[in-house]
Amino acid sequence: MKKDDLVTITIEDMSAEGHGIGKADGYTLFVKDAVIGDVIEAKIMKMKKNYGFARLMKIIEASKDRVTPQCPIARQCGGCQIQEMEYKAQLRFKENLIRNHLRRIGGFETIPMEPIVGMDNPYRYRNKAQFPIGTDRDGNVIVGFYAGRTHTIIPAEDCKLGVKENEIILKEVLAFMKEQNISAYDEKSGKGLVRHVLIRYGFFTKEIMVCIVINGKKLPGAEKLTKRLRTIPGMTSITLNSNEKQTNVILGDRIELLWGQTYITDTIGGISFQISPLSFYQVNPIQTEKLYQIAMEYAGLTGKETVWDLYCGIGTISLFLAQKAKQVYGVEIVPDAIEDAKKNAKRNKIENAQFYVGKAEEVLPEKYEKEGICADVIVVDPPRKGCDEKLLDTIVKMKPEKVVYVSCDSATLARDLKWLCERGYAIERVRGVDQFGHTCHVETVALLIKKIDKV
Ligand code: SAH
Repeated sequence: MKKDDLVTITIEDMSAEGHGIGKADGYTLFVKDAVIGDVIEAKIMKMKKNYGFARLMKIIEASKDRVTPQCPIARQCGGCQIQEMEYKAQLRFKENLIRNHLRRIGGFETIPMEPIVGMDNPYRYRNKAQFPIGTDRDGNVIVGFYAGRTHTIIPAEDCKLGVKENEIILKEVLAFMKEQNISAYDEKSGKGLVRHVLIRYGFFTKEIMVCIVINGKKLPGAEKLTKRLRTIPGMTSITLNSNEKQTNVILGDRIELLWGQTYITDTIGGISFQISPLSFYQVNPIQTEKLYQIAMEYAGLTGKETVWDLYCGIGTISLFLAQKAKQVYGVEIVPDAIEDAKKNAKRNKIENAQFYVGKAEEVLPEKYEKEGICADVIVVDPPRKGCDEKLLDTIVKMKPEKVVYVSCDSATLARDLKWLCERGYAIERVRGVDQFGHTCHVETVALLIKKIDKV
């Protein structure tokens, strides 16, 4: 077998990245866009010692789980990885992913998994989109999505995962740029002005935020843009963000108000939240409510507990739990998010929640060592890289009865649960919640109970 050879294979498994896995003469091949159960013809693109990558050329026999994607660019776009897989099969794949990570990385044999919570409608669920702006070969300004693993923009103004309003907004931004002769940013040269358009939509309030990210400080004719955007029903916040760094990071740290207010509001589980452009906010509000309900159930609050919510963002979980706890403390690294969290507590007249800015792995150990703080329940909801060991170490020292781990990457979840379970905790319940249909991502909630005092 060599590069460019055509092989016929049956897809038997799927990688965490959503690539179909099959064998040709015992040699493992990873094939993007192939679904478990497909019999396909694939072309070998790259070979390593024990495995290789192949390109899907022809479907000989389609899997029973194969469907036609709703999005015409599903295959090229880097946003979705498994849109050609029937949604129920996606859920099975995600549940297996969590289980396998807990087994292989965590070393857990018996896993108390509860059935994954899927979406009623796995399309148009995202409340946030960040569209890159660029230039095509003919010099026209384009907007779209990055192709998988590259920064080539595939022109598209509608994404089937996002809200319909995105398209109207993008059309206005493009028309404005054309009219004012405003350039698009070019990643390679670092020249050009408009980099990204960030759009947020409050599913409950129907408020819209548009934030234009520019490589500079001023947007010429900005008032002409706001005039166009203001006519869109629900427009609430139009801001400018400067990012003059040559980086992959989308947003810079400076926000300037162009029109309206600097934030929008939305509601999850009856609590109203103020959301700024720079703050993290869960992208799927319908599933988030289900996720928080599970976190609440796992925390088993009676009204007497002190709860720490680490990586709290704008205080969403903290305020949700504060309804049933004695006192909640939230810790978050982004100052704007903590400003939002404090305002959110006030908005909802919640008085038993307090927030601190800083790294969870620094704030918690410091508060524990200097002030001797305690916790009955600790909730963590870290980014994909998981928790820092210094934080886990402090959690073990604080000996909360329960740890509720909300995770967006079950591989790092498994690593951190292993660490905690080697130090006196045991997994009591685990449940997946699909927040990101058609992608390989899945959210997991795990409940750990203190079993033995090892410290
Ligand atoms: N619990 C929140 C946010 C979860 S996302 C919610 O459900 O909405 C993870 C959050 O962790 C982000 O807001 C991010 O800014 C924050 N973060 C990242 N690294 C951190 C660290 N070392 N310490 C504290 N917060 C951190």
